[in-house]
Amino acid sequence: MTKPVFRFAPSPNGRLHLGHAYSALLNDTLARRLNGRFLLRIEDIDITRCRPEYESAIDEDLRWLGLEWEKPVRRQSEYFADYRKTFQALKGKGLAYPCFCSRKEIAQKIEAVEAESGKEWPRDPDGAPLYPGICRKLSDDEAARRIEAGEPHAWRIDMQAARQLLPGPHTFTRFTLDGDEEIAEADPWRWGDAVIVRKDVPTSYHLSVVLDDALQGVTHVVRGQDLEAATDLHVLLQKLLELPTPRYHHHGLILDPGGDKLAKSRKSEALHELREQGVTPAEIRQRLGFQPTPST
Ligand code: GLU
Repeated sequence: MTKPVFRFAPSPNGRLHLGHAYSALLNDTLARRLNGRFLLRIEDIDITRCRPEYESAIDEDLRWLGLEWEKPVRRQSEYFADYRKTFQALKGKGLAYPCFCSRKEIAQKIEAVEAESGKEWPRDPDGAPLYPGICRKLSDDEAARRIEAGEPHAWRIDMQAARQLLPGPHTFTRFTLDGDEEIAEADPWRWGDAVIVRKDVPTSYHLSVVLDDALQGVTHVVRGQDLEAATDLHVLLQKLLELPTPRYHHHGLILDPGGDKLAKSRKSEALHELREQGVTPAEIRQRLGFQPTPST
């Protein structure tokens, strides 16, 4: 039997905080428990926000916590060609269309529809309004002409076409930390025509993560509850691309003393600050509910 594969996949766009430590330690603990492998993946497709110094800091913080992972580490920014190929496969099946809209145009369209109907336009699980389909109506000729003219554009998944091809139900296995498993049903349609290739980079979080988990043979995805809804879209993409679906566990988020989610952007207590204050890795493990030293 092949070994279970776990991964921790941070983005180097800030310093790691206790929430990251929890996620990384949990992946490592479960990998050890199942005699599996533990990988680190650097999710740096956002080339304007990610910086090499944050990547070195991830390395330093995780090593300080006592973690070890397999080398070489997959760095997403080195694989744009792979993501492009994967996107071409979706496009080849008629499952994607180019979108030239700016955020402002989308917001204006939704405002107009809401004003006319008096009803709130539906939102995706992240709270963003579903794309109102403006560019889905463009003819192939017009889309090709605008691309040819160099007009900036993203690519969206065509959920109508996807649903026709694979109506579902789309199921996946969810597991608990006690090892129990259950079959869950994904509801990808609630994302609407999500962006699968961004305007600024030739991929998106969703597309890259799905391809990388498959290429790296990830069998168990363990990540925060903030990404739970994204799994629905990932499961659909896996089925459309004929990739395996890993098992999923979404862990609770570590909150700050005020009950808010920790965030790099809010400068939540970073691991390196705790280290500078004299906190030890054993204390971090204990605070997060892990054994003081990695159990083998
Ligand atoms: N790169 C994502 C993040 O830092 C995590 C992606 C994942 O675990 O699927 O939030």
